[in-house]
Amino acid sequence: MTIVHNLGFPRIGAKRELKFALESYWQGASSREALLATGAELRQRHWQHQAGLDLVPVGDFSFYDQVLDMSFTLGNLPERVHDFHGDALDNYFRVARGRSVEEHAACCGGVAAGEMTKWFDTNYHYIVPEFSAGTGFQLDASRLLAQLAEAKAQGVKAKPVLIGPVTYLALGKARDDSDKLALLPSLLSAYSQLLDTLAAQGVEWVQIDEPVLVTELDTDWQHAFNLSYHQLKACRVKILVATYFGQLQDNLYLLANLPVAGVHVDAINGHDDIRPLLNLLPDHKVLSLGIINGRNIWKTDLNQVLDWLEPLAERLGERLWIAPSCSLLHVPVDLDSEQTLDAEIKSWLAFALQKLDELQVLARALREGRVAVKDELAANAAALAARRASPRVHHPAVRQAVAAIDASLGQRNSAYAQRAAEQAALLKLPAYPTTTIGSFPQTAEIRQARSAFKAGQLDKGAYQAAMRAEIARSVREQEALELDVLVHGEAERNDMVEYFGEQLDGYAFSQFGWVQSYGSRCVKPPILFGDIQRPKAMTVEWISYAQSLTAKPMKGMLTGPVTMLNWSFVRDDQPRSVSCTQLALAIRAEVLDLERAGVQVIQIDEAALREGLPLRQSQWQAYLDWAVASFRLSANGVADRTQIHTHMCYSEFNDIIAAIADMDADVITIETARSAMELLDAFEHFKYPNQIGPGVYDIHTPNIPSERHIVQLMRKAAERVPAERLWINPDCGLKTRQWAEVLPALANMVAAAKTLRLAA
Ligand code: GLN
Ligand code: ZN
Repeated sequence: MTIVHNLGFPRIGAKRELKFALESYWQGASSREALLATGAELRQRHWQHQAGLDLVPVGDFSFYDQVLDMSFTLGNLPERVHDFHGDALDNYFRVARGRSVEEHAACCGGVAAGEMTKWFDTNYHYIVPEFSAGTGFQLDASRLLAQLAEAKAQGVKAKPVLIGPVTYLALGKARDDSDKLALLPSLLSAYSQLLDTLAAQGVEWVQIDEPVLVTELDTDWQHAFNLSYHQLKACRVKILVATYFGQLQDNLYLLANLPVAGVHVDAINGHDDIRPLLNLLPDHKVLSLGIINGRNIWKTDLNQVLDWLEPLAERLGERLWIAPSCSLLHVPVDLDSEQTLDAEIKSWLAFALQKLDELQVLARALREGRVAVKDELAANAAALAARRASPRVHHPAVRQAVAAIDASLGQRNSAYAQRAAEQAALLKLPAYPTTTIGSFPQTAEIRQARSAFKAGQLDKGAYQAAMRAEIARSVREQEALELDVLVHGEAERNDMVEYFGEQLDGYAFSQFGWVQSYGSRCVKPPILFGDIQRPKAMTVEWISYAQSLTAKPMKGMLTGPVTMLNWSFVRDDQPRSVSCTQLALAIRAEVLDLERAGVQVIQIDEAALREGLPLRQSQWQAYLDWAVASFRLSANGVADRTQIHTHMCYSEFNDIIAAIADMDADVITIETARSAMELLDAFEHFKYPNQIGPGVYDIHTPNIPSERHIVQLMRKAAERVPAERLWINPDCGLKTRQWAEVLPALANMVAAAKTLRLAA
């Protein structure tokens, strides 16, 4: 009989209960006991939701991050928190979040948070394990054992979940540049002990996640896999090595031959691995297939899966397990929570709970035949057919517009140098022109006005008047500061993707579709379900109003197609590149409308361009090709005199600099303050030809940068990029800051520009 199991469940709660409990605890508004109780309640509820499964994940619950949990389980705490004598949970939060030096000078002297980075190609961020040559490991299984005991007491068919030793090492960072692999032997003894401890508790199966197997591994790391699992095979538990998110490719043989009892593979993203794997896998091993997509919110085509799965079930018999492709951490909890989502669109969707239901239907079909679930299968087929045929999804005009695209649409009329001369003559900017990235503080008044408007307590006219007043305020402040290129401040925008999605056909929004991003932070990605159309101009009125208040150039402000795509749940019925092209056409129309309205400078933010990079470097170019083409399509329809800006808030450009240059924006503003301008090296080596605004201060902290510091940074920048191509701006938008921080910071920034101009 086919075993049905799950790899992990979203821990944040259908109504983000964990988020609120954590934040209340951190603020000192509730007790440790209350937080622990919320954790226990959520675990119990989530296990109940999974009660129909044959094996249920235990240990996937986390108060902050599963990688940080693993670091604590392995006793690998950063040295800076070793001497902490307080509560272990508080120490855990110290590593997760840090403690500011100012506030904690008297007690603990403050402590830096662990570095955070993206979990593979998801929008989840983990705390990077820290290593050095002297790192030792000391097992502390208390968290896992407590959860296991809790599960057992509730009758849960528990399968503990761990991050595997090789993935754990691979994801960490050696702070002293020592060889991480030298730590493997001592790491493995901690893992052996852990597995023995679990065996002693009567655990039969342990799921060990090794998603690093879907990335390119050199021979040392492949060898580490063999070494690890040969050692762990002595433990008295059955190991299921789980991979997900991508294809195994070269690592297929390695995985198939690890001395473990079973393997889990992602049958969605790694679909092509399954055939060869079937032939390679020794016939005593369990093969768990991830057949329900754990990364999207669409209903699965159950009949189609069964067509493919039934012969495999025949062939594998007891050895076949089925599961979602990956942990359900990456999808919202419950579609039934949605009260306002359009009923038709809702009928096409499945969140975590609905995905588990789908899994059960598949399991029953395999066990008892399709007739046993014929109603469910028929309903599923009907929903999918309705989606395929829906006029909400398909707009022939959009298809035609996409088909009619030719290369000339993505091409500016003239080369950069000629455009730059024309723009300079028109804009008459001083050397080292100053600007900001778009948003000004989203004050409490702005947020109150927006929620009153959404709740129907404030009418549209009053809301618009309130936003106009905010725009006028930010223009006044910028003029007083003597900035050169102004922005309207984005007061009217809740979020840079949602704001545009709400105005485009083809997008839907959930109320509770939250997905954990890191710690207590969640995002609610909009749902891109249909062909994208722009019914009318989205920003022109606001920007024109802002421009009417000043004689200085006002930047039009848009979110780019790649970022719209990468921060949304996207369609599974067409390639991402096609959805991106449709978005690009909509943004292009907006760019041209802004130009027609007399806007001379237009910024198209691509904050998430890098996030879309595939897991394997060999696939990067294909992605960059269509991503850059989409940006060019959105931006390059303008006349030479119109200056296109783009903005990217991260600090790794070395490996994508050619693609960045290929975007051909007249000006790019980037985040650089924390890297002391070193990241401009990539631009220097590449001889990046256009203008650059390297961020001169970090907007994530309330600290006010001094004029002297900014001057120093810009001098460093000018060693790398000719001064006549440099702009001065903050690292990113200012929406999370207070006006009281923004004004002195920008005043120092403008003063620095003046000093630099005098010296030039
Ligand atoms: N224009 C946006 C802002 O200033 C850019 C935000 C971002 O890059 N994440 O808020
Ligand atoms: Zn940014």
